[in-house]
Amino acid sequence: MKPRIAIFSLTGCEGCSLAILELEDQLLDLLGAVEIVNFREGMTEKDWNIDIGFVDGAVSTSEDEKEVRHFRDKCRILVAIGSCAALGGINTLKHYQGAAGEAEPPVAGNGDVAEYRRYVYGERAEWFPTTKARPISDVVKVDYALPGCPMVKEEFLSFVTSLLAGRTFTLPDFAVCVECKKRGNLCLYEKGIICLGPVTRAGCNAICPTFGSKCEGCRGIVSKEAVAAAGVNLREQYNVSLKDVLDDFRLFGAWQEADLP
Ligand code: SF4
Ligand code: SF4
Ligand code: SF4
Repeated sequence: MKPRIAIFSLTGCEGCSLAILELEDQLLDLLGAVEIVNFREGMTEKDWNIDIGFVDGAVSTSEDEKEVRHFRDKCRILVAIGSCAALGGINTLKHYQGAAGEAEPPVAGNGDVAEYRRYVYGERAEWFPTTKARPISDVVKVDYALPGCPMVKEEFLSFVTSLLAGRTFTLPDFAVCVECKKRGNLCLYEKGIICLGPVTRAGCNAICPTFGSKCEGCRGIVSKEAVAAAGVNLREQYNVSLKDVLDDFRLFGAWQEADLP
């Protein structure tokens, strides 16, 4: 029997689910190997007998929390796809939101829920429930995580292939810079631009610096050892402190800030 797959969405733009539909030709091969039984973006039928469940989006409402517990109950293997589900992602920026008009949040990283609801929804704040945004692993056990905003389609395919073949799947534990250098890009630090490539987990083939934008860290931080090594290089080569680099990490990495050196 083919493994039964489901794709779910919580709070996010659902871009990671859409990335699966964008696989086009490879999607047909994938459909030959698995059976998709529950996927709001792509079908109306729903079945809850699930081998592998993929979830995009962060837990950012009490409804999300209920849903992700339900997904966990129904899926033998649960996989977080994308930065929102794997790391909390850009949703966690709201924790830094102060009252409307304030330049600085009242308490860094612990913005008041009532304040950020009022800031976004104004007089209708009560209509829109919201809680602190979290990666799904903060609520349920997650078996695997494929970070990225959106997740990397090729990594998704490689993950599914490994799982079907019974092979172990691991994310790269080296920095985006390795891929960037392999592509022959001129380092953005040479132009005085702070790029998060030295401290960010590889796997995206350095797509942002290749097209002229700095890495924003959407795949999350590498191991502490790799961060420490990057700190030494940055200081020696570009006279940039690790702190200056990590201060820029909040767009996707607010939830990981507690783990930063
Ligand atoms: S990780 Fe990015 S693309 Fe995926 S759901 Fe979140 S915001 Fe959308
Ligand atoms: S710092 Fe950025 S631009 Fe420089 S090599 Fe690393 S990823 Fe590429
Ligand atoms: S270069 Fe950085 S921001 Fe861009 S996709 Fe890769 S990890 Fe994400």
